Amino acid sequence: MPKVELHAHLNGSISEETLIKLIAKKPTDQQEMLQKLTTHIGDGHNRTLKECFEMFKMVHQIVNDHESIYEATCDVIDDFANDGVVYLELRSTPREIPEAGVTQASYVETILQAIQDKSSTLQQIETFDPKRKPIIVRYIAAIDRRNSVEHAMQTVDIAIRMKKTGLVVGVDLSGDGSVNDARELYTVLEKALAHGLKLTLHLSEVDGLVAETSRLLDLPPQRIGHGTFIHPNFGGTEELLLKTRKLNIPLELCPTSNVKGQVTPSYDKHHFYSWYQLEHPVVICTDDKGVFATDLSTEYQIMQKTFNLTDKMIQSLAYLSIDYIFESDSVKDRLRRYFEGWQQLNQ
Ligand code: IMP
Repeated sequence: MPKVELHAHLNGSISEETLIKLIAKKPTDQQEMLQKLTTHIGDGHNRTLKECFEMFKMVHQIVNDHESIYEATCDVIDDFANDGVVYLELRSTPREIPEAGVTQASYVETILQAIQDKSSTLQQIETFDPKRKPIIVRYIAAIDRRNSVEHAMQTVDIAIRMKKTGLVVGVDLSGDGSVNDARELYTVLEKALAHGLKLTLHLSEVDGLVAETSRLLDLPPQRIGHGTFIHPNFGGTEELLLKTRKLNIPLELCPTSNVKGQVTPSYDKHHFYSWYQLEHPVVICTDDKGVFATDLSTEYQIMQKTFNLTDKMIQSLAYLSIDYIFESDSVKDRLRRYFEGWQQLNQ
């Protein structure tokens, strides 16, 4: 089934094969140390979310220069295309790596170069052809809430500057929800909106962020990452539910990430179903397909099996995701035609 992936962090999405390949290119004296890093959580295993954040830092030790950033991006795009993802919004936090001459700006430029080299043309996604695996890719500049307000402002300024490439479509707020008060970033996020960038914010991924979530919903963001603790059934409040419903803000849901990161006790207790029953827009996503050892097809299959959804329901979820992409109506129309082409062949 063709799919749209709207919540994927670049460095969390790198496969084990790619990391092994990248390690093999490092100086020999570093290889042994890098091989010992734990960068994936296999099936049946869990970590605390805190431990997951430590794993991202390990991946960063491997993806630490322009060459590896470029190669990792290309491979992640290929992986998504091979899984039937036809439109991908890839997010990543611009990182400075002074010892490798990487600046926030050159970090983003490297990703954009890979996107340009790997992306299909819009014409290629007009008609479905089972022999081809086209993919359109866009970039979302991520703000890690661990970093300073100044760092976040630099990220937004870079995104604004590079918006003219047509590849930068939005700004994300992510990172460890228990660190810092994201309300301090309100003006930075407001600036992104004022310059025509879309916002997707990790809101209430962890418990206890009601005041922060309520404030950031006032921006408002165009999409919400996780929103695990927004619904009152899951420790949220009626006020948060009402605000999210009134603005009809789609939720990007990442089941395996939530279960393996121990934010959600099990798949059947995932907040997906409470929102789905309300007919509130939800988009199934992977979050970090590398670290959480999954892919988008698997996430759909898990939701289908857990909540007894029919094939039609699953197809409709994937099709409706197109409505929430950070792209123009004409790109949405092309994607819809592509999906419909697949549906005709698979009825
Ligand atoms: P990067 O931005 O490409 O380096 O991808 C890894 C980064 O994404 C991590 O360091 C976090 O800041 C962020 N990230 C990945 N998964 C999550 C999540 O589940 N919640 C919040 N932030 C996340």
